[in-house]
Amino acid sequence: MPGFTSAETENKLGIWAGSTGELFFQNVELPAENLVGEEGQGFEIAMYGLDQGRFTVAAGACGVIRACLERSVEYARERETFGQPIGKYQFVQDMIAEMVLGYETSKLLVMQAAWMKNEGMRNTRETSLAKWHATESAFRAAHLAIQVHGAYGYSGEYGIERYFRNARAPIIYEGTTQVHKMMQAEHALGYRHLNGRDGDVSPLCSWAPALSPVHAT
Ligand SMILES: Cc1cc2nc3c(=O)[nH]c(=O)nc-3n(C[C@H](O)[C@H](O)[C@H](O)COP(=O)(O)OP(=O)(O)OC[C@H]3O[C@@H](n4cnc5c(N)ncnc54)[C@H](O)[C@@H]3O)c2cc1C
Repeated sequence: MPGFTSAETENKLGIWAGSTGELFFQNVELPAENLVGEEGQGFEIAMYGLDQGRFTVAAGACGVIRACLERSVEYARERETFGQPIGKYQFVQDMIAEMVLGYETSKLLVMQAAWMKNEGMRNTRETSLAKWHATESAFRAAHLAIQVHGAYGYSGEYGIERYFRNARAPIIYEGTTQVHKMMQAEHALGYRHLNGRDGDVSPLCSWAPALSPVHAT
């Protein structure tokens, strides 16, 4: 359509398999039949879309953590220094343990959001929490996996550096970590309504009386 242009984003750190670009809209005129939903619903529809996109990003991040954990366990069992597998060293075990924690907690948060979606419950807060935690845990797991693999982790030999590069962007897209922290705090403080303008304040209030919406503005 006249006024619409796009530009490819070059030299990305990761996600090389996907094409990323910018879309520019300069006084683009759309026919009325192109309207999605009803007039005035745009923001709500866009926000609903984020509940789904953020969920898939969180689930994908769980996959990255698991891959890092599996590759690191394999390598720690196989690589020997000073006559024993590096997996026997407590400092290496510390890194493996941190990946286990990141994987299990991320998976549980994703499953919680998934269950709420299946039940048809509003899940914006829970999906946000899963996305924030899982993407940060994935980047941390990739960082640790490089460390477990030593110089091989930094090289392209075992493919670990690819996890590291690809785990960085999800901390930015579908809401940056800072945006998710803000959302979580605002829910806890009772400043944020589940449906943007109206509806319940926060499900936290149901089990934590101190977080009741009495102070909500
Ligand atoms: C690989 C990749 C793929 C992408 N794919 C898509 C896509 O498919 N569709 C799409 O629409 N977008 C996509 N994006 C864009 C992405 O959603 C944005 O980059 C992201 O929302 C951050 O916006 P920004 O880059 O303008 O950063 P800014 O908004 O300028 O933020 C810069 C910094 O300031 C912080 N900040 C900004 N505002 C606040 C605030 N109010 N409170 C606290 N901190 C704040 C941010 O957390 C960040 O740290 C993609 C980005 C990448 C890297």
